[in-house]
Amino acid sequence: MPDSKVVLASNNVGKLKEFSAILGQAGLVMVAQGELGVAEADEPFATFVENALAKARHASLHTGLPALADDSGLCVDCLGGAPGVFSARYALQNGGEKSDAANNQHLLRMLAPHRDRIASYVAVLVYLRSADDPRPIVAEGIWKGEVVDTPQGTNGFGYDPYFYLPDLGKTAAQLSPEEKNQFSHRAQALKKLIQALRA
Ligand code: IMP
Repeated sequence: MPDSKVVLASNNVGKLKEFSAILGQAGLVMVAQGELGVAEADEPFATFVENALAKARHASLHTGLPALADDSGLCVDCLGGAPGVFSARYALQNGGEKSDAANNQHLLRMLAPHRDRIASYVAVLVYLRSADDPRPIVAEGIWKGEVVDTPQGTNGFGYDPYFYLPDLGKTAAQLSPEEKNQFSHRAQALKKLIQALRA
């Protein structure tokens, strides 16, 4: 298990906290790339893994440190996996604005003709020991649920009020942060990453 500083290829304070709390137990000290003067990388690719790899490589290249990046989103089966890597800008891409409310409205419009609402939250983490690491550690977390028409709950963010978990009988927005961190796609990916780092 490495015992060193790792640059997080994101400036999202929530992610830094979440990743620091879990990876700190594994001996890693996380630093946000912005603190080291690294600008955001482009995310031009069609897959989560390619975007996460590009972000991690960019952060490692500009700092000389090992890097961790994540990419995540919602994939709806009947929409061929959309919004996928475009989850954050789903409405924007379709003439709307970049906001959670607009994304959710656009999603419901796209789903209106469909009865099958099965969907998955997907999170892919990539850990690089160096910018030219030939063997990145890749960990994927999948959280299955379904999209409902009526929002429920006020926790979380993004698509959470519409993402219903049949096993729990609640939407993701009705879970406490602690519960969400136990089950979520990011939590599952983090657990796998830790196992891989320990191996
Ligand atoms: P990013 O990986 O932080 O860029 O997130 C991409 C987008 O996917 C977010 O802006 C949300 O729209 C969606 N997303 C990813 N994870 C979640 C989640 O846990 N809840 C709700 N939406 C999410």
